[in-house]
Formats: sequence, structure tokens, C-alpha cells
Amino acid sequence: MAGLYFHIPFCFTRCGYCDFYKTTRLDFMDAFIKTLYSEVAHYKNDFPQQLSSIYFGGGTPSLVKGTDFAELFAVIKRNYHLNRDAEITIEANPDDLTGAYLDALLELGFNRISIGIQSFHQRDLQEMGRRHNAQQARQAVELAWQSGFRNIGMDLIYGLPWSSTEHFQQNLDVFAELPVQHLSAYHLTFEEGTPFHRLLKKGIYQEVSEEDSLEQYHLLRAYTNKKGFEHYELSNFCRPGFRSRHNSSYWKGVPYLGFGPGAHSYFGNKRCWNKPDLNLYLQGDWTRIREEEELKNLDAYNETLMLGLRTAEGLDLKDIQQRFPNFYATLVQQSNKWVSGGALILENERLFCPPDAWFVVDGIIEDLFVSE
Ligand code: SF4
Repeated sequence: MAGLYFHIPFCFTRCGYCDFYKTTRLDFMDAFIKTLYSEVAHYKNDFPQQLSSIYFGGGTPSLVKGTDFAELFAVIKRNYHLNRDAEITIEANPDDLTGAYLDALLELGFNRISIGIQSFHQRDLQEMGRRHNAQQARQAVELAWQSGFRNIGMDLIYGLPWSSTEHFQQNLDVFAELPVQHLSAYHLTFEEGTPFHRLLKKGIYQEVSEEDSLEQYHLLRAYTNKKGFEHYELSNFCRPGFRSRHNSSYWKGVPYLGFGPGAHSYFGNKRCWNKPDLNLYLQGDWTRIREEEELKNLDAYNETLMLGLRTAEGLDLKDIQQRFPNFYATLVQQSNKWVSGGALILENERLFCPPDAWFVVDGIIEDLFVSE
């Protein structure tokens, strides 16, 4: 199984916390879409696998017109092997969603929508630089449901410097009422190069305390648990049967091919990425746009630890032994102290971290990393 990822690098405005590659030059959209068609056709021989998922992320994929998606799907189907039951996801901004647009998406074959809500508080949305308002956030989910989407995800951000646990709880109260099947909830991080990072450096923002972060994380777990959601990855929760197939593939090391400026790919033990440069991308010279590196066994091992220990399944030790025979004994030995201390659990040849401790799992992962 394999997946395709499309990076649609356009946004109307820039959110203060966001470090994804994007541009507000929407006048380049048509040229971008045409270049995307050629890129998709160009790499067809690199990727003979059956596709089980396609994911449109960004940027803002919901700025793409239905007619452009229709042409793009025709190009995909001409060049790749798309499973009939493939999961096809679009990330959408709430204020792009109209009944007609949602109907068109369903007609095109989208069967999953991930709505970038982030918060139901007007103050949060303004401070983050989001262009939707609190009412649109709620309405977008309801409209997607009424239109016929039955696999709806939403994003929330917590750990906001001006906010409080009580404030976040109000967001969770709204989430609890909505017909969503999936929730991605991220703690705010101050990524270098973002306006938020500059405000942090100037002392205008302060990071929330560890106690508050943890309190909000536990609240999140309690609400999702009450709604019958499973916590299947550090930041991801869903109703049983509604895990994001595409994102789960990343964590399991399933190959994927990425298109668009800034998009990454992973296949055949190789990592490739397109330079995050729309002007260069539009020239369509793939040898100049794409860079790649052979993934060393050591890097692949560390990455497997990092991604696996943030998931409910954890690490399959048989798989580790088979793929990384040189590191297996080290892992068993190194993880012993964490297992004895209860931070990791070893059960049926799986090594995993219990979800209530995922918030601090990064320290454990770092300890288990192998360096050159
Ligand atoms: S968070 Fe989303 S909408 Fe906001 S700038 Fe980043 S990619 Fe664009």
C-alpha cells in the first residue's frame, strides 16, 4: 500500500504560528495547478504501488476549484493505481466551505475532510490570524455533516499563551457536541521564523507552564474518552474505525509520494523533497526542484522509534529485529530501565508508551536514539 500527498501552498493570509510553506500569491494558482498535472505524470514510473490514500494538505487545499480537482483526479487515475476504497482527504478552512463546494468534493470522490478549526473562541482566532470566525468554525462542521461527509476531522490548538485551561475546556465542550469522527489536537509550538516566535523572543508571549500544558492534555484525553474516541497517536483521536489511514501510513513507514513545492516523499529507502520555492516549481524542471537522500539504516531506526513510540501500537519488536538487527539488542537493553520504571510497557513483543505518558515521551525517545 502507498499514498500520495499534495501540498497546495496558497493561503489568503498567514497565521502567526504557522511554519508550513505557503504563499499569499493566489494569482499563481492556475499556473501551479497546470505544473502539478505535469509533476504527477512525470513520476508515474517511480511509484507502481496500489494507492490506498490521497491527502491534500497545505497551505489551503480548499482554495482549489472543483473543476481543477476533477482534472487532477483524471491525471492521477491515468498514471497511478488508485484503490476503489482509497481514503481521499482534503484539509479545508471553515470559511471556504459552502454547500455547493462540499457537494462537489463528495462528487469528486473525497471521503474525508479535515477542517482547520483551531478554536471556537473569537479572541483565539484573531490572535492566531485565522480568517474564519467562531460561528463559521461551528457551522463548517455542521454543513459538512449535512452535505453527507461521514468522516469529518477537526483540528484544535491548545497551550495558547493568552488562554487558560478553562478556556480550552470551552472549546472541548463545543467539540463534544459536534458530529466529528476525528480530532487532531496540537499543543502550540513556537516555530523559528514565525511571527509568534518573534513575539516570544520579545517577551510579549510566554510559553504556558508545564503544569497547565499537562492539565490541558489530560482534559483533552478525558473529553475524547467520554465521546468514545480512541487516542491512537500523541495528537490524534478518533471514533473506532476512523483513524487517518494516510497519516497512520507515515508512522508505519509506508511509502508515499509528495507533489507541490515543499512536499516530501519516502519510498525505496529514499527521502525526497521539493524545494519550498513556488517560482522554481513553476519552471517545471524536476531535476532542479527535487532533492533526495538515501536513508541510512541508523536514521531509519531512529525515525522508527520516534514515530512508533508516539502511537498506541508502539514498536513491533519482531519487525525491529528483522529490519534493524544491529540495533535490536541495544533497544532491548536501553529500554529496560524505562520498562522497570513503568514509563514503557513490554507486552506481546510490543514496546509501547501508555497514552497518558505520551506528553513526555520525547525524552524517552531521545534516550533510546542511537548516534553514529
Ligand atoms: S495555518 Fe493553514 S491557513 Fe494558516 S497560514 Fe498556515 S497553512 Fe495557511
